Amino acid sequence: MFDSLSERLSGIFDGLKRRGALKESDVSDALREVRIALLEADVALPVVKDFVNRVKDKAIGQSVLKSVTPGQQVIKIVHDELVAMLGAEASGINLLGVPPVVILMVGLQGSGKTTTTAKLAKRLTEKEGKKVMMASLDVRRPAAQEQLKVLGEQIGVKTLPIVAGQMPVDITRRAMDAARLQGFDVLMLDTAGRLHVDAELMAEVKAVRDASQPLETLLVADSLTGQDAVNVAKAFDGEVGITGVALTRMDGDGRGGAALSMRAVTGKPIKLAGFGEKMDALEDFHPERVASRILGMGDVVSLVEKAAATIEKEDAEKMAKKMAKGEFDLDDMRTQLRQMSKLGGVQSILGMLPGMGKIKQAMAGASIDDKVFRRQEAIINSMTPTERKKPQVLNASRKKRIAAGAGVEVSEVNKLLKAHMQMAKMMKQMSKMGKSGRMPMMPG
Ligand code: GDP
Repeated sequence: MFDSLSERLSGIFDGLKRRGALKESDVSDALREVRIALLEADVALPVVKDFVNRVKDKAIGQSVLKSVTPGQQVIKIVHDELVAMLGAEASGINLLGVPPVVILMVGLQGSGKTTTTAKLAKRLTEKEGKKVMMASLDVRRPAAQEQLKVLGEQIGVKTLPIVAGQMPVDITRRAMDAARLQGFDVLMLDTAGRLHVDAELMAEVKAVRDASQPLETLLVADSLTGQDAVNVAKAFDGEVGITGVALTRMDGDGRGGAALSMRAVTGKPIKLAGFGEKMDALEDFHPERVASRILGMGDVVSLVEKAAATIEKEDAEKMAKKMAKGEFDLDDMRTQLRQMSKLGGVQSILGMLPGMGKIKQAMAGASIDDKVFRRQEAIINSMTPTERKKPQVLNASRKKRIAAGAGVEVSEVNKLLKAHMQMAKMMKQMSKMGKSGRMPMMPG
């Protein structure tokens, strides 16, 4: 998502940055291109117009154009306006109510409603320590209730037992009673979807809303459907009243228009973003970070959070201790290689680093890709424990054996050993520099 928009914008801004002084017409020209780029990313026209006007008003002020770095200042204004357009601040899920707090999930069929319900339930359980119950009110699709039950079993979250033939409002009442009696903190209601917004669907959702008095009514919308997603959100908000949006399929190659116009058009915050089919592929939507990502400024905060969540604490602590002593053998290198792949591989890491968008493209197909890491891991796997601890024992015949074991040339083994030596040297220097021995990416 956002890749092509990001590329377009950085092209436009590179042009601005290169010039020392900026004239009003330079800014206008650049903004005309920004306007086209946003429209091509499928951002709603009124949103684009408003955005460009606001940037123009601020950027054409004398203080900006006369400043030492006018290009940078214009980019800063664009960034700030993008953040405003995306919703200024991240808004979390509201759970401040008398338990069981009800979260009503609404949206079209296939938008990812059931998946998002389960993902959110998992998160509230694991990260917020809430006791969550889920109930499917979808009595239309034969397998829908069963689908939620299966997901519930998979993530260890309780679902309301299925009673065949019960209607949505009755299921809602039963779910509320059960959640109250059994002391649940949160009750998540997954409603039925339709292929299109229709009166019958809205009536059903409204009846459920009235019966359950939800604290949050989250619209689940597929970001790949672009402006359609925004229209669906408008319709649901008008009829039912939503408190926020969960945008799914942000991992896809959509142009980003839905994410960019949703807030401005509906006035409701994007609260969650789905990044895949897996149960933990759900993130808070942080306007600031998304804007930085779009402008190629990187998303270091997300990367560090992801690292902290994915890398096992034990591994990290062990590594930190060894590094403090300046030790770094091939076992440590293998651990690092594995951590890289856990973080989603090089491509995904690069996408989050500042200024890496362009490098990422240049590197697609070049030598630094995940295959190299897998090969390096295979080489280390072919070594004996002694060889991993003391790489200096590796003579020609041992190297030949290892290369054969990993299915590579001996030169690859040498390359890996050289890389390891450089890393080990770096670790030694770092341990001398600061006796804290902690890499910035390591969790607490
Ligand atoms: P519902 O009809 O709205 O309940 O939709 P489902 O929850 O059944 O989801 C439909 C399909 O979309 C399933 O195959 C999900 O795995 C998939 N899906 C849901 N969210 C995401 C997401 O964020 N990214 C990707 N790639 N797939 C998703």
